[in-house]
Amino acid sequence: MDHDASVVWVHQLINQNSHSWNYERLQQNFHEEEIKCISAIPVGLFRQKDQLIWHYDKRGKYTVKSGYYIVREIQKSQHSLSLSVASPSSNSRLEELWKHIWKIKLPSKLSIFLWMMLMDKLPTNDTLHKRLPHFDPCCPFCGEMETSKHLFFSCPHAVAIWINSPLRLRSVFLHSVDVKDCWTELLIPLRNHEDHQQLIQLLVFILWHVWKSRNEKIFRNVIISPQDIIAATLKHFEDFSLANDSISKQSELNHSTLALTPPPVNVIKLNFDAAVDRNRRRGAIAVVARNLEGKPLDWCCKVYESIVDPLVLESLACRDAVTLALNRGFCAVRVEGDSLMVIQAILSQSAPLDIKGSSSISSF
Ligand SMILES: [Zn+2]
Repeated sequence: MDHDASVVWVHQLINQNSHSWNYERLQQNFHEEEIKCISAIPVGLFRQKDQLIWHYDKRGKYTVKSGYYIVREIQKSQHSLSLSVASPSSNSRLEELWKHIWKIKLPSKLSIFLWMMLMDKLPTNDTLHKRLPHFDPCCPFCGEMETSKHLFFSCPHAVAIWINSPLRLRSVFLHSVDVKDCWTELLIPLRNHEDHQQLIQLLVFILWHVWKSRNEKIFRNVIISPQDIIAATLKHFEDFSLANDSISKQSELNHSTLALTPPPVNVIKLNFDAAVDRNRRRGAIAVVARNLEGKPLDWCCKVYESIVDPLVLESLACRDAVTLALNRGFCAVRVEGDSLMVIQAILSQSAPLDIKGSSSISSF
């Protein structure tokens, strides 16, 4: 295929005047199947700057979580191609562990920390000593060998933190040698507890603060008392839980407000919705404008060939609702739909990757 070397950016494939794909250029650069997929992407009404994005994430933004996930996926595919390396059972155990960690609602740095701890990848003094023999392998608190098990569970410093925590845990009685097995041991009694999710979260927060206090001692020679460490842990945990609660309550609130509230006087309400017909590979949208009494003032209905992504269709429906309002000269409008992602994208001015640019919703 004779590629057009001058095409570097997406906007070079778009006819800016007609807001449509430039098929001549598409044909010079892509295969037939690729052109089919590209032409199913609606072109935005407003020109937007091309930008580099992290396409593994819905919002096109790099996150540590998605980065780690991709690394795991790559390792998995490399593993399946490889004839040697680890056994399939150890690979699936790793996979299980990975899923287990990401199921726990945590700040991402704590998820990474837990992953590293359970994989025994934290730079504890005994690990560093193995690589650098001159490095002191001893615990900064008690002088014993600083393994992960010692640091987190056996050291008198850690023991005092656990016993002072709301969990009242006697960590010195954990039987396992391996820190991953210690974690499993910790989870067993929590399994049937009604607040087990929160207790598991709290476990990780405590582990994180044990690690932080150990680093404070090593790098700044600051000793924090177990009581102060627990107070800081609980404050951190409480702030995180409150922030998470308010986010989910906010979403519920937005959702219910959306469905129930009548428009204020002189405000026109525009309801939009979308539907997918997968068999015929097309989507449809509908918009209805009503006044305060619920009397229909106008409506529009459209079919979008080749578009079957519900999120894209919902955002097109929203765009058509606003276009209808502009064409009819409605000044005060309330636009309502049931796609929380589209509403949140407009409110946050940050569209998910699937609809970024295609619907130009941030330009309204
Ligand atoms: Zn120690």
